[in-house]
Amino acid sequence: MTSTDTTPPAARPIRRLLIANRSEIACRIIQTARELGIETVAVYSEPDRDGAHVAAADRSVALEGRTPAESYLDIDKILAAAAETGADAIHPGYGFLAENAGFARRAVEAGLIFVGPSAEAISEMGDKIRAREAAESSGMPVIPAAALTEDRQTNLDAAARLGYPVLVKAAAGGGGRGMRRVNEASELEEAAHGARREATAAFGDGRVYLEKYILDPRHIEIQVFGDGRGRVVDLGERECSVQRRHQKIVEEAPSPVVDAALRERMTRAAREFAASIAYAGAGTVELVLAPDGEFYFLEMNTRLQVEHAVTEAVTSTDLVRWQLEIASGGSLPELTPEPRGQAIECRVYAEDPANGFLPTGGTIARVDHPSGVGIRVDSALSDGSVVALEYDPMLAKVVAWGADRGQATERMIEALRNFRIAGVRTNIAFLLDVMRSVRFAEGAFTTTTIDEHYSAWKPTDTDAAALASAAAAILIRRGVARSAGRAGGGETGSERPPSPWDTLGAWRLGQSAEHGTAARKRS
Ligand code: ADP
Ligand code: ADP
Ligand code: MG
Repeated sequence: MTSTDTTPPAARPIRRLLIANRSEIACRIIQTARELGIETVAVYSEPDRDGAHVAAADRSVALEGRTPAESYLDIDKILAAAAETGADAIHPGYGFLAENAGFARRAVEAGLIFVGPSAEAISEMGDKIRAREAAESSGMPVIPAAALTEDRQTNLDAAARLGYPVLVKAAAGGGGRGMRRVNEASELEEAAHGARREATAAFGDGRVYLEKYILDPRHIEIQVFGDGRGRVVDLGERECSVQRRHQKIVEEAPSPVVDAALRERMTRAAREFAASIAYAGAGTVELVLAPDGEFYFLEMNTRLQVEHAVTEAVTSTDLVRWQLEIASGGSLPELTPEPRGQAIECRVYAEDPANGFLPTGGTIARVDHPSGVGIRVDSALSDGSVVALEYDPMLAKVVAWGADRGQATERMIEALRNFRIAGVRTNIAFLLDVMRSVRFAEGAFTTTTIDEHYSAWKPTDTDAAALASAAAAILIRRGVARSAGRAGGGETGSERPPSPWDTLGAWRLGQSAEHGTAARKRS
């Protein structure tokens, strides 16, 4: 290890933690903080006034805005909330300000502990071009790439040298945005313009570059932790190849295609890279694995990942706890746990898979969360929750652990069948189809499988997810209207409306028509 400009985290305990985020991830972080006896401060936007994270925290501060820009992205408001409540640390979660170097810098300047790496590391890794350079100089394999210039012919020559297909990528990209695949020379200029426009709008930074497009790749990523003093450990890999438009939907650990020798090569490359930048805290080194078995650096995410729970499930660790311990100056464990069994995560989105996966908003009339041996659900949903279109459409994450991949899949299918959400369309029936597919059972998904084979997906009759949702919403409205009427008539009104699940009959999600008929006959 050589010298570095990254200041090691100061050794001081965290007493009061502000969580600069919302929804399931804010609740997840509050959970661990409470276990550690750390007081928690939630911040919230107007639509989130009744949010689960507000109720879960010890204290909360209204950010008095509706859009992300007016609330969870407003650095001044969040730092003011920290000052007002005497917080000594900030956890940014994922999304929003989690990879905003300016936020990390200003938090530290305000005397707060930022639960994450240094502002320098965030800024260097947030720029895919600089991150590639840093990765390459640590010995990590990188995908052949070229600069995109203002000159059309220079760009065409560069793409021809890389060989089609190529990918136009935004230096500041994230969340699958700012990317355009180019199959032949005639598409290049338009793709570059489109990506530039999208990146300028989404990230305020229109710089784009060219990468060779790896055909039929798998997305494999390595969870690393650094102590900021040059020591880095890893917690193995996650496979995230089930993606739609470069956005993950299903993740698992370990990967069904990574053997011990490949794991050793991948994790060593990731550790050496993170160590070369004296990385502090939780980080994810994302790689693509080509069909020929070669892997290449994609990017490094300098935060807790959405899919961190699959790593927690197979290693029996609490990654948020590790983050908080490192942030308060603690050291990494000498030995890291070996992964045991298999964990799968499904992201439940408020979107309509039968209608181009369009995000859907609305009010959750009724939600029943699944449970069971090996099942974990990270969710901030409850009856009456409002799904606002302003925010990411992810509603919840279901994680299933099993002794092997078959058992984890069986448990996931059963959990998804029992995850009942009324009032808002979700992708649950779609997730069930993926889980039940032969392709998934064979571990054969690449990052393009969904886009190639599921674009015209429609729910099957037996799923009837949309119908179940609509029927339940109507029944609940009736039930609610009845009890409201009783309350008006001088009764207490505390009685719970009848459960729509009791009367849904054939429309139960994932149940066969026979079950439904039997249920109706009984009632
Ligand atoms: P993961 O690899 O953990 O799935 P993603 O890249 O999908 O991470 O992003 C996680 C969350 O952060 C998503 O809600 C996504 O929309 C959001 N996000 C990612 N990058 C950015 C960015 N540069 N600016 C704002 N939000 C982002
Ligand atoms: P983001 O910051 O949006 O997460 P990434 O660089 O991590 O961007 O890429 C997101 C996804 O896009 C990857 O998981 C992979 O599916 C695809 N991808 C990115 N670069 C390439 C490439 N050069 N070849 C093939 N697929 C790629
Ligand atoms: Mg990525």
